[in-house]
Amino acid sequence: MILRSPALLPWIYPIVAGRRRLFDERFAFCGTRTPLTENECGSYDDLEEASSFLFIPASSYCELDGAEQQSTTVGENRVASLSKGDWVAYDVNLLNSTYYRVQFQISSADGEGAFRFENAFTKEIYASIETVPHTGDADVYDSISRDVRLPEGSSTLLLRSIEPGWNLQSLNIEEIGEISETIEEATGFVRAHGREILDAKGNILHFKGMGLGGWMVHEPYMMLADELVKTPTEFLNLLRDRIGYTDTASFRKQWLENYVTLKDVQKLKSLGFNLFQAPLHYDLFTLPIEKEPERGHDTWLLTGFDLLDQLVDWCTQEEIYLAIVLQVAPGGQGRASSAYDYDITKPSLWEDDENIRKTIALWREIARRYRDNEWVAGYDLLGAVDWIFQSNNTNDCKEVDNTPLKTFYERAIEAIRQVDPNHMFILNGNCGGTHHKGIFPISRNNTALGFHHYWTENNLESLQAYLEFRATNHVPILMMQAGENHNKWYQEAVDLFERNQIGWSFFPWKKIDAPSSPFTILGTNLYYALLDKWQNEKLDILNANQIMFDVADNAKLEKCTLNEAVTVAIMGVNTECDQAAPSYTITPDKLERIEAESFCRLQNAVIENTADELDTGGFNLGWLNKGVAASYKLNVTVAGDYEITYRVASIDGDGSFRIEKDGSIIGEIQSIPATKEWQKWTDVSHVVNLSSGVQVLNIVSSQQGWNLNWFEIALLESLTGGQLEDPIVFEAERNAKEGS
Ligand code: MG
Repeated sequence: MILRSPALLPWIYPIVAGRRRLFDERFAFCGTRTPLTENECGSYDDLEEASSFLFIPASSYCELDGAEQQSTTVGENRVASLSKGDWVAYDVNLLNSTYYRVQFQISSADGEGAFRFENAFTKEIYASIETVPHTGDADVYDSISRDVRLPEGSSTLLLRSIEPGWNLQSLNIEEIGEISETIEEATGFVRAHGREILDAKGNILHFKGMGLGGWMVHEPYMMLADELVKTPTEFLNLLRDRIGYTDTASFRKQWLENYVTLKDVQKLKSLGFNLFQAPLHYDLFTLPIEKEPERGHDTWLLTGFDLLDQLVDWCTQEEIYLAIVLQVAPGGQGRASSAYDYDITKPSLWEDDENIRKTIALWREIARRYRDNEWVAGYDLLGAVDWIFQSNNTNDCKEVDNTPLKTFYERAIEAIRQVDPNHMFILNGNCGGTHHKGIFPISRNNTALGFHHYWTENNLESLQAYLEFRATNHVPILMMQAGENHNKWYQEAVDLFERNQIGWSFFPWKKIDAPSSPFTILGTNLYYALLDKWQNEKLDILNANQIMFDVADNAKLEKCTLNEAVTVAIMGVNTECDQAAPSYTITPDKLERIEAESFCRLQNAVIENTADELDTGGFNLGWLNKGVAASYKLNVTVAGDYEITYRVASIDGDGSFRIEKDGSIIGEIQSIPATKEWQKWTDVSHVVNLSSGVQVLNIVSSQQGWNLNWFEIALLESLTGGQLEDPIVFEAERNAKEGS
């Protein structure tokens, strides 16, 4: 099928020698041709000024031949149906003649397709893509990238299909500069090198981190107290009012000592992360300016430094990187959020230069202590900022140049460099860490751009501003804070960051009674009762101090609950079906239930909390895309025909799957009844023949739109024709399990 724009038709009819000839002749006319009145390539009239970064939706072509534009379920229209020889062309205007990373967002249901990326006029072939990603569905995209040298100024870039079976969603062209054969000498420290972050040995380092949110900064919502108080200091003041100064100090000390320990660092490492992010509250390190005996003086408090020293030691011992983040600077650097602990009756960081001076002095003191530690990954000078600097502005996300923020960064870096020449700086933006206008370029080396990624869609557009900064300023970019979201979102976010070579750190590591972090700190009924009393009756409560101490005690890792659904969503596949993986023994006399989340390998699906009251594991698998979803290792003691019953849900009755073993299909479920809700469950079953021995069964989703909660395996009869050893027991167990 060939669809062409009307403007092209005059070019098509006279040509009988094939499309290739048409293509060549067309471009032989480029620059002088007149018949093309729309979608024209090569005139460059509409191009904006030259850029180091271009995000090009596939539908923004200047011309295409053979291919067609289709609407999609995932944003912009795509270019699809690219038969052999079809092409699509884009006019671009690039700032420099140098290397660019060109990223193609491609879908291919069957993993078929190949194309060339070339210059429409010079015919230079920049890259040949022989294998496109197998995405399992036309609406599921993956990206491939190539580093290619592209010319300065205007040119027309063309994708020419070599093999059919692929669709294009977008192109991303990002300047990476000259590719050096020899990487810079290792410095012994993590550092920014062009757009990459390197480790102490000079290897490219990709951060996978978690932030210790709620540790030093008692954000009221994290303490479940946001109905009572607005800021972390108000929370502590409430405690002081109700349980006294001594017990409040005791509570905070226990909380700080319990929230992160060596065990937490070891657990983080065992889960596959390589970075902890420590958000500091200045009040554990120094006095607020109004409490200093004299202006310009800094009283150093050992509490904060001792805690940080210890964490640095643990991270060093376990070879985990630690990014030090000043979440709350003296005075507070943000107005809107309780996360900054801003007190409206006192000057903010930006309203009294003494706060700025003290903040810089604090950083110098921190840097002086850790200047020689290679596991300190860098200094994130202000976790985020929310401040309107321009008098005529009403929105900190619309600051034109963020001059006070940039000036602060430059002053701080200059001062810290005098005591620590080694460590990298991470510079977050205004507008909650999302608005960096005016900060870059910055005339200081070894800096990275940090950004926050809360409550945003996980698409390329959401990163566009940061990718532009990276391309234009040759700085690495790091996602320093995001979280409080569901597991599918985590999975998509990690996927997005990895595809764009962006290190990341989610937030927080643990939180009271919230399943959206890797660990849940259990809230006690008494704590809820206490908060309720304090809120509604303004009453004191007996043993309130002990209730708070118990809350602090519950912050210990060994008392927390691991939310495996979160860690698997963030870290992806965390186990393999190798020899070390546990197997489930299937015996003739027992009905074996295997929870869906007890896989040995997971792909194309995520774990969710389940609302099925018959569930025994707490989770189900959802978002099962096409392809191998989950694998289970079984040890079958007796070969035979087994009935497998699956606990499934499907809103519309979509979804189907098959069971594969060693690449062969051994059973199939072709339809799933509509259950109308994702958490309404039903059973489907079939009979499959299983050989004896240890084996891996793959559940392969052939159509998306279904959830899996568990499956149960029971022998029908053995291959040898023998009966079950004790059919009565078997039936009884079965009935008991089914609750019928
Ligand atoms: Mg389950």
